[in-house]
Amino acid sequence: MSSDCLFCKISACEIPAEKLYDDDEIMAFRDIAPQAPLHFLVIPKKHIQDPAAVGTDDEALMGKMIRVGSQVAKENGITDFRLVFNNGAQAGQTVFHIHMHVLGGRSLNWPPG
Ligand code: AMP
Repeated sequence: MSSDCLFCKISACEIPAEKLYDDDEIMAFRDIAPQAPLHFLVIPKKHIQDPAAVGTDDEALMGKMIRVGSQVAKENGITDFRLVFNNGAQAGQTVFHIHMHVLGGRSLNWPPG
């Protein structure tokens, strides 16, 4: 845990979030500023700064994030969705604890702006 990290604090339940999934390794919660009818984030409880910091030990954890994110989308009635990881400020990353956006419930443009 990184003491000044927002998502570490959410995963430790020190800051409230609208949780959709929670276990000992990962958590899913609604984005505070949703960009689609369904928009939630999946995070590992382990503090990893960004996708570029993922190590070989984290590979199973990353796969679990995709599996659980897809399952939670389905549980919320969404079969077509987009998974996004931003890496670095220029790519739009604002919280430096790795997170996977799950967006769905509307048409999504490609390429992103
Ligand atoms: P990114 O820009 O990829 O780093 O995404 C960070 C996301 O975290 C943004 O979509 C924010 O709206 C979201 N966010 C920031 N603070 C909170 C919070 N306290 N609870 C839920 N989502 C948050």
